[in-house]
Order: sequence, then structure tokens, then C-alpha cells
Amino acid sequence: MRYIKMTTANTYKFLENLKDEATLYAPTKISEQFYDFTEIDDVDDVEFHYNRTIRPPRRFFYPEEETMFRFDTDKVELYENTPREGRFVIFGVHACDVVGLRILDAEFIDEQPDPYYKMRRDNGIIIGLSCLPDEYCFCNVRRTEFVDKGFDLFFHEVADGYLVRVGTVQGHKLLDPYPELVGEVTQEDIDYMEDFEEKRSSMYTLQGNWDSLRYFLEMRLDHPMYERESEKCLGCGNCTLTCPTCRCYDVKDVPSIDGKTGERIRFWDSCQFRSHGLVAGPHNFRPTKESRFKNRYQCKNAYCEEVTTAYCVGCGRCTYFCPAEINFKRNLMEIGGYQGVGD
Ligand code: SF4
Ligand code: SF4
Repeated sequence: MRYIKMTTANTYKFLENLKDEATLYAPTKISEQFYDFTEIDDVDDVEFHYNRTIRPPRRFFYPEEETMFRFDTDKVELYENTPREGRFVIFGVHACDVVGLRILDAEFIDEQPDPYYKMRRDNGIIIGLSCLPDEYCFCNVRRTEFVDKGFDLFFHEVADGYLVRVGTVQGHKLLDPYPELVGEVTQEDIDYMEDFEEKRSSMYTLQGNWDSLRYFLEMRLDHPMYERESEKCLGCGNCTLTCPTCRCYDVKDVPSIDGKTGERIRFWDSCQFRSHGLVAGPHNFRPTKESRFKNRYQCKNAYCEEVTTAYCVGCGRCTYFCPAEINFKRNLMEIGGYQGVGD
């Protein structure tokens, strides 16, 4: 792997250059409390220190809603709507969200290639950014706090800029045109990165790993936590819509007024919605709030062996954005029998 140094001033120049080459998205502060990846006009708006965005990066590859194809029932023809968007860069992706995208790759590319997702993935450049955890983060016990693949460049904060890991050929190509912005990594930078990682490690409220969680979840299906916590649940779906690894979608056909043409749309669905389990009949295979609630806990903690230990990367969004203050991390600790410094 190649390592370079970029000073803070040069990082802003680099982002300015990227903005001229491709659409640049980066975290910005969108309200007193919340951050989101937004399109960047002014690089001074980029937020380098944030904990989590309200919307996960997956939406750039798998949008909230999209037209898959248009149809003409008279001609009995379909017109594919595969995306033709240009290159884009997502700057400032934290390690857990990088793993989130790799989990989606395993589903949308490796298993059954999805042309809509893959086209955007081919055009999207991922630039990672180091971070410090807050009390909602548990990426360390999910082993997603550090990544060695899934990014083109990864920026690690050092005293006067960033130590940058180059992850792909694409990453080299991003830097090649700007040799004047790139410097050698010094011993001081390496020491800073080591101290940063140590400090980061000590800030997590949990230690160890949760590799055994899956088994405890499977064996404790009747745990009283489910009934107690699901009674508080509003079924709003925030926990799944903000999750970087949720993949469920629904489709609907929208006819035009002419009665002959129309389009098929797919849109994010949530296993927390009653309609998610509704099939022909109308039978509902998850008829109760508790059964839907339980499904999320089981689904998120099933193995995703090709990429990581679970479908949950420990970003903390589902707890942070839950209006009923249901604490996913604490509930998992209860089921797994794990001890923590705090919750
Ligand atoms: S965000 Fe909270 S209240 Fe809403 S569905 Fe998820 S667990 Fe239930
Ligand atoms: S389940 Fe919650 S903590 Fe885990 S990845 Fe999804 S939003 Fe993040």
C-alpha cells in the first residue's frame, strides 16, 4: 500500500480539484444536531469531524427510489433505465460505512449482479476519513473500526493534515495529476497516527468482540427483551432507513394516464413496516410488532462471512435516530450477556 502526506491546506486544494473533475459529496452540518452527505459547492463546508450522517452512503448507489424500467403494454416492450450518471466522489466515509458498502456489494454484485447498483458503484469513488467514537459507536466489537479495502483513498488525521492510504489504482489516479499537493510521510506522522488509534481505542465504551452474538441470538429467541422493547417501538422504520446495510426494497408499477405505458419503481422498504410481511392472501408472515422487531435483531447479526462478522457494522444510527429511544447496542448486550463500561 502507498502512503502519502497531505497538509490541511493542500487537502482543501485537492477537494477543490476533485470538485472540478467529478460531483463531490461530503459530510456537512445540516442542522444543529445532524450531518448528511451533500453535494459540495464550497469546500469550506466539508465537515471533517462528525460521528454519523443521518442518511447512509448506500443511497448514492441504491437510491431511496428509482425507476427500473418503463413499459409499453401495447408494444409489449420494456425500456431499461440503467443509470448513466457521471463520476462522483464521496469524501469522508468512515470505516464502518466503508464496510457497509462492501456488505451491499456482496448482495448486489457478488450474489446476483444488479445493473443499477453496479453502474453507480463503478462510477463512485470512495474516500475514507478517520474518526473518534461517541457513546453510540460499537464498530470495534463488530471489527469494522479499521478497513484495509473498499476505499480508493483513506485520510487519517495527523497533526497538520492527513496521512493518506492509497487503496486502489483509482486512488493513485486521483493523486497523480497533483504531485505538488503530496508529501512524504514523516516519523512524526506515523507516531501521531499510532497515538490517534490508541486514543480512539480507549474511547469505545465496549471492548472485545461480539463474534459469538449470532449464537446467543439464535438460542435466546424467547428472551424477554423482545416483548419489553417492542412494546415501545413505533414501527416508524427509522432504524432501517438510516442503516448503512439494510437492503430491503419493494417495487410498484405506476401506469401512465394513457393506460398503455408506465414504469416500474423500486423504493426502500423496512422490515419494521407491517406491509413488509404482507403477501397474497392477504397473509402476513410477520403479523406482530414483536415478530418484526425480532427479525431486525436476527437479520442484522447473521453472518456476512465474505466481508465481516455481521450485517451490523456498529455505526449507532439505529439507536441515535430512534424516536422511541430504543437502544440497539444495549439490547444486544443483554442478549449476548456482554459487559460494557457504559451503554
Ligand atoms: S426507529 Fe425505533 S421506533 Fe422506529 S421502528 Fe426502529 S426501533 Fe421502532
Ligand atoms: S443495525 Fe444499527 S448500528 Fe448496526 S449498522 Fe445498522 S444502523 Fe448501524
